[in-house]
Amino acid sequence: MLGPVILAASRSDRLRRIVSAAPVTKQVVTRFIAGEGVATTVPAVRRMAEHGLDVTLDVLGEDITDPTEALRARDAYLELIEALGPLGLGPRAEMSVKLSSFGQALPGGHDLALANVTPVVEAATAIGTTVTLDMEDHTTVDSTLAIGRTLREKFPQTGAVVQSYLFRTEDDCRALAEEGARVRLVKGAYKEPASVAYQDKAEVDKAYVRCLRILMDGSGYPMVGSHDPRLITIAQELARHAGRKLEEYEFQMLYGIRDTEQVRLAAEGHRMRVYTAYGTDWYGYFMRRLAERPANLAFFLRSMVTR
Ligand code: FAD
Repeated sequence: MLGPVILAASRSDRLRRIVSAAPVTKQVVTRFIAGEGVATTVPAVRRMAEHGLDVTLDVLGEDITDPTEALRARDAYLELIEALGPLGLGPRAEMSVKLSSFGQALPGGHDLALANVTPVVEAATAIGTTVTLDMEDHTTVDSTLAIGRTLREKFPQTGAVVQSYLFRTEDDCRALAEEGARVRLVKGAYKEPASVAYQDKAEVDKAYVRCLRILMDGSGYPMVGSHDPRLITIAQELARHAGRKLEEYEFQMLYGIRDTEQVRLAAEGHRMRVYTAYGTDWYGYFMRRLAERPANLAFFLRSMVTR
């Protein structure tokens, strides 16, 4: 019940200002983000790699309102890629990008986002890794999938994300599986209307399994983005059924969530990638994590009270 309220709050500028200014918030936020800049994040990447964990790095930021901010987002990724190069991790450290931070919602945003993200994909390719395009609210799906398709013409490893809560996603999975794309499947983290998305969690989970089956049976590379133990078991069964070897799919979880399970899956020989966000613009990301799980909200409120 609380989830939709928190998701609505995640888009409020007034609340953004209040929550971001509270000193205690910052302490809680560090549970979910790796650092404020490249200098603190790169050592975290190295540590995770030593524990057998791969990463996908997200420079926090979304919903920008000015083209110069889009250039700043692009440059922040270029700085990150430059710092990652010497680690020599190659595809073990990839990037996740939100096209809204590259200008997608501005006038002419589709072309602007493509123009801004292309140098990032080029730079990632030059150090032997790649980029996955995060999926945001449903109004952006056509543009984001189209940009992904354009990028894959030259950079076939560019990843797509699909959200099982959207009615359209089974069809999108079929198209992407046929194309042979790298696809991260998630449940979906935005507040979506009943006209486009399942509202019932059980329906979202059932759709997740249907989409996963399509991806596992297809010719692409499925990336199972979930903390849900039932879905992780089902993914392993579907992969086995489809005759996939361990290196022919991967699991992905968020930094700070189910850390022990992350290490356990990696130790079992699975490819386990941790979505690692960093930066100062953490409000929207943080609020979506609170909305996903009442325990996260309780943790946040408790630390407010016990200070
Ligand atoms: P939930 O329904 O939240 O949780 C299911 C079960 O998982 C819980 O019942 C519990 O057993 C377990 N669990 C969950 N959290 C915890 C915890 N903290 N501790 C212990 N157990 C827990 N969304 C988008 O819309 N676009 C994106 O591009 C996107 N990228 C993502 C990338 C990655 C790598 C991941 C993991 C998620 C991403 N998401 C994205 C978020 C996603 O859509 C979900 O909101 C989020 O993953 C929560 O769903 P869940 O599958 O983990 O299951």
